[in-house]
Amino acid sequence: MQSNFDVIVVGSGPAGSAAAVQARRAGLSVALVDKATFPRKKLCGGLVTGRSRKAIKAIFGAEVEGQMFLKATEMRFSAKGRLLADLADGPPVHLTMRWDFDEWLHGFALEAGAVPFLGQGFTAIDETARRITLKDGTALHYGVLIGADGVNSAVARALFGRPFDPETIGFGLEIEAPGTAMHDYVEVDLDAAVWGYGWAFPKHHSTTIGVGGIKSRNADMKAHMAAYLERCGLEPDAIPYKGQFLPFGDFKKVPGRGPVLLCGDAAGLVDPITGEGIALAMESGALAATAAAEALAAQAPETALRRYRTALRPMHQSLREARMWRSLMFPKAMREVFLSAFARGTSLQNKYLRLLAGEIEYRDLRLMFLRKAPKAAIRAIGRKLRPGTRAEGRP
Ligand SMILES: Cc1cc2nc3c(=O)[nH]c(=O)nc-3n(C[C@H](O)[C@H](O)[C@H](O)COP(=O)(O)OP(=O)(O)OC[C@H]3O[C@@H](n4cnc5c(N)ncnc54)[C@H](O)[C@@H]3O)c2cc1C
Repeated sequence: MQSNFDVIVVGSGPAGSAAAVQARRAGLSVALVDKATFPRKKLCGGLVTGRSRKAIKAIFGAEVEGQMFLKATEMRFSAKGRLLADLADGPPVHLTMRWDFDEWLHGFALEAGAVPFLGQGFTAIDETARRITLKDGTALHYGVLIGADGVNSAVARALFGRPFDPETIGFGLEIEAPGTAMHDYVEVDLDAAVWGYGWAFPKHHSTTIGVGGIKSRNADMKAHMAAYLERCGLEPDAIPYKGQFLPFGDFKKVPGRGPVLLCGDAAGLVDPITGEGIALAMESGALAATAAAEALAAQAPETALRRYRTALRPMHQSLREARMWRSLMFPKAMREVFLSAFARGTSLQNKYLRLLAGEIEYRDLRLMFLRKAPKAAIRAIGRKLRPGTRAEGRP
């Protein structure tokens, strides 16, 4: 059995499968290790955004179409049941079950020639010998190791002593309500949790309903979930909740060490406002594989992290910007201001949809804000100077 590989990828979720495909495309030998066999369960809303669609096309050469996906063009935003916006003709999003979706992506990695080691988790690393050990004792040697093993990453734990910071990590609860979907639009409740939100996503044979947010700010996430289920018209205790951590903006500044790279949830790459992680997982997996290929071609595997960090810079910058926006949107004092601004502001709603579609970045939101701020300030000063003008400047 082959035990030496240019690249070993640990984890074959969206990040790991993307890394494996990209590394094979660069002509590298690849071992793909996962503690599960496929298909396997993964707690997730299964919302595949336009940004994800682009990544799937670019990395796997595949289209998001067919039975695995349900297409939706309507999104409803609410706040504790109060409708803020109903956007009927937005850019399409797709809804899928991760059971099917991840098996599909994993299949591309196998087709590309990655050698599977399934049903055996990573347990230990010897960084000096560039060797990992699997649960059954199998030892594999790598040039570059890519840890794509999710939010509870054993690779990150082996490097840094823990996979994430418990103070900043997010947490989500979900149920799969069986039967015909409750509605055919995507519902997001922007006030269902503290520093978080709730979602009800239609699927072919169910509705995925959940709430999530920063764990340390939601001492009783179950109570938020029960309240949200009631607002959805469901018995709160009818189906047991499942829970999982989610790196809600909690990305690692240094995602690895030398020839060991972390990507996807293992690197904390989830959007801190929308909770989108699938696109960032695939994008970062591909970037990690490209950095690995360049480092190996230069016969300097230890330079992989430096190369990867350079490639990740725009994504990190965007996540920093998102965190900045979040600190304006989520604090209690700002909540109502933000929610009513969202309800009134078609431009803001539009930007949110375009963010999900991968058409704009948080940077563009900042630029829009900076362009509009001086005019808004002048209008506000004008209102102050004109006695009798209403606060909102409306007749
Ligand atoms: C409740 C919830 C809802 C979400 N909804 C959405 C959504 O609607 N849309 C969206 O874009 N994102 C969503 N996310 C985020 C998204 O699920 C993740 O960002 C995404 O799955 C990250 O992909 P990944 O490949 O990094 O990790 P994962 O998908 O978690 O894959 C990790 C893989 O590593 C394997 N593994 C773990 N440990 C080991 C080990 N020791 N050895 C070997 N293999 C191992 C696992 O079996 C798994 O196959 C949601 C997250 C949560 C928690």
